[in-house]
Amino acid sequence: MTTASISSGPLLAARDDAVQALAGAARAGATVVLSGHVQPDADALGSTLALAEGLRRCGARVLATFPEPFTLPSSLGWLPGAAELVDPAALPAQVDLFVSLDAASPGRLGCLAPLLGSAGRSVVVDHHASNPGFGAVRLVDPQAAATVVLVADLLEQLDVELDQQLATCLYAGLAADTGSFRFGNTSPGTHELAARLLRTGIDHAAISRRLFDTAPFGWLGLLSVVTGRAVLEPEVGAGVVWTWSTGAEAREHGLAPDQLEALVDVVRATAEADVACVLKGQDDGSWVVSMRSRGATDVSRVAMALGGGGHRAAAGYTSAHDLPGTMDELRMELARGL
Ligand code: AMP
Ligand code: MN
Ligand code: MN
Repeated sequence: MTTASISSGPLLAARDDAVQALAGAARAGATVVLSGHVQPDADALGSTLALAEGLRRCGARVLATFPEPFTLPSSLGWLPGAAELVDPAALPAQVDLFVSLDAASPGRLGCLAPLLGSAGRSVVVDHHASNPGFGAVRLVDPQAAATVVLVADLLEQLDVELDQQLATCLYAGLAADTGSFRFGNTSPGTHELAARLLRTGIDHAAISRRLFDTAPFGWLGLLSVVTGRAVLEPEVGAGVVWTWSTGAEAREHGLAPDQLEALVDVVRATAEADVACVLKGQDDGSWVVSMRSRGATDVSRVAMALGGGGHRAAAGYTSAHDLPGTMDELRMELARGL
């Protein structure tokens, strides 16, 4: 049974180009580097690890990595193959093929963007509406619920059979990017792919528990502080609720800074606000902004206007301003275009 997501002509051509590039590299035993975006999530890492393992089985010399800082979030360190991820500092200066996964722009590849530029060939596999188009082969499908959907399709085209190792990586990305099949990007094809993955016998409950329902006790303390300082501004755009934290504050609660990522999923429940924002202070003084929309606001447009990108309902960007300056700029952009 096929659950291929791609049906339109130009995408089919891009998919075939990608398959040719990947199969050719595997046949030639070429060196292939695969990477997702900075501060990788389950879709970025799941895509990377699943396609890396598939290409390895086809004969390629595979180096799976992700951009600096080379620290895995604890919620993802258990993914099969994660232990073999290669530090970007240890990569060769010249590679035959670079595969970019779930990265909406070259900038999202951080320190690895130059390697994509200098590689003999590059394949970009992504699903962000904001992707401007980069790389030699561009398999970019904004209709795909997650990049792992496109990777599952590529694996099928490469005749790689799904087993529990591959399915675990793919399911992690699919569950994460669809909010466990709750978000609007969930389609019949999403569930069909999930069914294929479950049929391999994966422990989906354990995967979901590790991804979404496991945090140190200190997370409750951080959550209470961060939600306690949340601000509701119903008059801004279609309404905004926002709060902030920092990597330093996470550490005060005994947590790694990646534990800040889950905060927006709590804040976005606010009924009075169409947009929820969490501003995450970085050690270099910049603010990484996560935005979620309940539907009326296209946060990908807002993020793109401020130098970032994403999807209509989930997007982000980085601000070099201080906290008040970042909020002033964000309020102006949210008020525009409604
Ligand atoms: P996050 O808030 O980090 O979970 O990101 C939400 C969505 O926006 C994800 O699909 C990200 O890949 C995307 N995104 C976040 N930051 C950026 C950025 N600076 N440029 C492009 N896409 C981004
Ligand atoms: Mn991602
Ligand atoms: Mn994604």
